Amino acid sequence: MKVRIYNTPKNLKLDVLKRAVEFFGTMLMSKRMCAGLTIFVRFSETHKQENFDDGNCTWEDDNHRPKEFSINLHSYKSMSKVLTTLAHEMVHVKQFATGEMRDLMRDAHLVSWQGKRFDMRDVEYWDYPWEIDAHGRELGLYVRFRDLLEKEKRDAKKVTKTKKPSGSKLKAATVPQEGCQV
Ligand SMILES: [Zn+2]
Repeated sequence: MKVRIYNTPKNLKLDVLKRAVEFFGTMLMSKRMCAGLTIFVRFSETHKQENFDDGNCTWEDDNHRPKEFSINLHSYKSMSKVLTTLAHEMVHVKQFATGEMRDLMRDAHLVSWQGKRFDMRDVEYWDYPWEIDAHGRELGLYVRFRDLLEKEKRDAKKVTKTKKPSGSKLKAATVPQEGCQV
């Protein structure tokens, strides 16, 4: 998976964002499908003018099983809000990439969802099946990613502790004396 992130707010960590895109991708799609995707993530402070609330996701290359996507995110200060929105938009990436959802080109209101034609004018946003899917999965994806980062932090602390023994006894036992055969 190729991930490019633009205009990252100063309070957010670029490497964590990149890992989050990859983590959400592998939680939602096969390894093979993930490997073929390119995802551009762009932060924007003018989201209201651009007509999206927290974020949005659009395909760039083809309406049938696209491989290239743009995700726009509002530059929230909180990492948790940004990551939850990112998880939500990655669910939409999954829906398009797997062919579960497809924009029908002759009318902007028409969508194919799991093989059935769907007119967006007939239903409210919260009842769109792709939004129920995305809203239903965003929190669980975010929580698992956060748990993974916290576990890594704990493990890193353990390694630092064992690498730097404070007692001189341990030092003497583990560090070979000069001239001895190892
Ligand atoms: Zn959505």
